Amino acid sequence: MSERFTGSFTQQEPIPEAGIAAALRVLQNGRLHRYNLAGGEAGETALLEQEFAVQTGAKFCLAVASGGYAMATALRAIGVRPGDAVLTNAFTLAPVPGSIASVGARPVFVGVTEGLTIDLDDLAAKADQAGVLLLSHMRGHICDMDRLMEICNGAGIKVIEDCAHTMGASWRGVPSGRHGVFGAYSCQTYKHVNSGEGGLLVTDDEILAARSVMLSGSYMLYERHLAAPGPEVFERVKYVTPNISGRMDNLRAAILRPQLADLATQVGRWNQRYRLLEEGLRGTPGLTLIERPESEAFVGSSIQFLLLDWSAEAVQQVMQRCAARGVELKWFGGAEPVGFTSRYDSWRYVDAPRMPVSDRVLAAIVDMRVPLTFSPADCALIARIIRAEVGAVFQNT
Ligand SMILES: *Cc1c(COP(=O)(O)O)cnc(C)c1O
Repeated sequence: MSERFTGSFTQQEPIPEAGIAAALRVLQNGRLHRYNLAGGEAGETALLEQEFAVQTGAKFCLAVASGGYAMATALRAIGVRPGDAVLTNAFTLAPVPGSIASVGARPVFVGVTEGLTIDLDDLAAKADQAGVLLLSHMRGHICDMDRLMEICNGAGIKVIEDCAHTMGASWRGVPSGRHGVFGAYSCQTYKHVNSGEGGLLVTDDEILAARSVMLSGSYMLYERHLAAPGPEVFERVKYVTPNISGRMDNLRAAILRPQLADLATQVGRWNQRYRLLEEGLRGTPGLTLIERPESEAFVGSSIQFLLLDWSAEAVQQVMQRCAARGVELKWFGGAEPVGFTSRYDSWRYVDAPRMPVSDRVLAAIVDMRVPLTFSPADCALIARIIRAEVGAVFQNT
């Protein structure tokens, strides 16, 4: 009988004991609002911001309600206006174009390469169309950041990095989120730290940081932020920056702090699993792996491969055969978006021209989450199943 995988693709690990204990302390004292502090207390949210600033080497950090809110706040702080064009990836997740739409701006999509990164030639060709790039490191693939920054600096484009899948990753030693003016991270359950919902925003720019704090809904309590600029900077923005509430609370911050302290260990565990999957899939006829550049230190919390130029029917057969053996694959090439597999032509509130070169890549992308509840043996088993089923379908086509 053929092997079958029986684990869950959506089950996360428990919150670390230290996080549970800290959360209970917040519940017991009832001070969940970030500005509700007893005498002398810094508060979990302010401490989280301080620690994440240190971890990323950023001057300033703000914790907010979601990754999508973090990106929208960055766009607002930079001064993106209704009707403005904002460059972004054709291959990303719905909250990315959604954050652009939330400020009334207009996404202009940039193509995707077979390496699953933003197409830098396409970016260079479109550089005169917008003053801001919301760059998504989708599925943790980091493009040549040196060349990207050269293009953007040359064209006067401000870069906001969407690091939902690159928290803990880096390019040539520079943490992801630290090349652009802003780095935005998500703490949603399926990302690298889990508070259910949540987001973090980092920057070195004091005016952008002060505006972000005001935007997030700090009232006039900004002095309670420990990773924000001084009061003299807030004097310049506090009367002219609207409050669009999206703060993080102390409960979620309490859960997150021990997870951030553990991040490097978790990254090691993800990458061990990723490499086992990669090794098991290498050399499968008809299947293209995404080779990871040496300059990229990534977090293997998901894995992608390409079934390039396969028919839709054949890809669907692979998906069905793997599903029958307990392996849940997602395909970005389906006619209809399913779960998170939407792409630029699914976001029909945007008037986007077809992108044939990207369409070929998108039609080939097969994606799989790698939760840390998978054991290394699970990963080897999953790779054997995918290899066998891809092989079986490929032989018959
Ligand atoms: C999850 C995610 C976000 C942010 O999502 P939120 O649910 O708003 O925290 C942004 N970009 C990508 C690529 C994502 O996967």
